[in-house]
Amino acid sequence: MTVAGGNCVFCMIQAGKAPASFVYRDGFVSAFMDTTPINPGHILVVPREHAARLKDLGPEAGERLFRAGQMLAGALPKAGIRCEGVNLFLADGEAGGQDVFHVHLHVIPRFIGDGIKLTYMEHHPVSVSRDELEKVAGALRKQDVWNSPDPVRAHGVTLREGEVVLRPMTEDDWSAMLEWCNDPPDDEGAWSLGDLRGIYRCISYDSYNFIIEVDGKPAGDLYLQRMNIPTIIEKWPGKDLRRIDPCVARWARGKGVGTAAIGLLTRFGFEVEKCDAIFACNVCADNQASLHAFGKNGYEKMWNTEWPPGTTMENQFDLAITLEKWMSAGGRKAWKA
Ligand SMILES: [Zn+2]
Repeated sequence: MTVAGGNCVFCMIQAGKAPASFVYRDGFVSAFMDTTPINPGHILVVPREHAARLKDLGPEAGERLFRAGQMLAGALPKAGIRCEGVNLFLADGEAGGQDVFHVHLHVIPRFIGDGIKLTYMEHHPVSVSRDELEKVAGALRKQDVWNSPDPVRAHGVTLREGEVVLRPMTEDDWSAMLEWCNDPPDDEGAWSLGDLRGIYRCISYDSYNFIIEVDGKPAGDLYLQRMNIPTIIEKWPGKDLRRIDPCVARWARGKGVGTAAIGLLTRFGFEVEKCDAIFACNVCADNQASLHAFGKNGYEKMWNTEWPPGTTMENQFDLAITLEKWMSAGGRKAWKA
């Protein structure tokens, strides 16, 4: 319902050029009564600055929008409005049902028997497998959703064996990592600097992130992360499970660098962290280098993850080594502090 000439009705309302019944206003948002309420008390919260879509809205205005919606929801019943529940509803884009292209959050009072419901076609909802959920979640986790201002978590652990050293990852390592993480690029496309920062900073709060160095030169990265895959956690209840994810620079591949780094971190996991099992997740069947490096360290194939036909994620394996297996292979004897 944008007015001809590019004039926006919500901008006009806030500028006092169109009538509205205001209920709230601060530096970021205004709220006023919807003129065609779904239930009595139906409020619209809009940003003060014009933003057509969510993607155009600044982070602070986004926060204030929701916060105002939350506060107004709390005010509804106190104001004597019939309100046993509330729906916050925001339609973004034409496909999402947006009619006025100035972001607005509906605050809708609800009560039992009000006859309102969100509907969907009979073929929804469909239940999907955990693998499918993980695939989608994995693609989302790669986005820089957090845009975290917090740097990679610092830790004081350095591990070494011969010329191979694992030292803490820092904020100075992004450019080197960008190179080896995209060599070759992932099935889902190249990682941007934002991708890398987002995912590694986030991971680091639940893991030890390391840079592998050979003769003082950065040769890859790897981390020992608390297990975050629900299907694996469910199969090993009550156990301290971790996962190792390595990436080795091309120039250092085929030289035993990955094998040495995985060995160092596996020992650290069992000896210092006292964990029960360590996994390597989603290793491609054709990634012989990875399978070899984990195999040399006693990791065994756990089960084949079946991916839906037509995807590019077929034939991935989860590998694992348990504390018992590591001990029986003489792991403790091999440990040199
Ligand atoms: Zn506007």
